[in-house]
Amino acid sequence: MPTCPYCNKPIELGSTHLVHMESYHSPINARTLCCSKVVYCVPYLSFNVLESDKQKDDWESDD
Ligand SMILES: [Zn+2]
Repeated sequence: MPTCPYCNKPIELGSTHLVHMESYHSPINARTLCCSKVVYCVPYLSFNVLESDKQKDDWESDD
């Protein structure tokens, strides 16, 4: 979890906030459970990277 900008603890958000960001991937203003301040939360994509067996990337055409 990211750190809360107000109280500098790991941020605590309600499950409604987290589910909304997971479902819609859109920013929200949410009142924290840790210190009851309103924070602006921007979800971002994280991903793992593995070796690929493909020779072309998904945007390269097979010609
Ligand atoms: Zn806080």
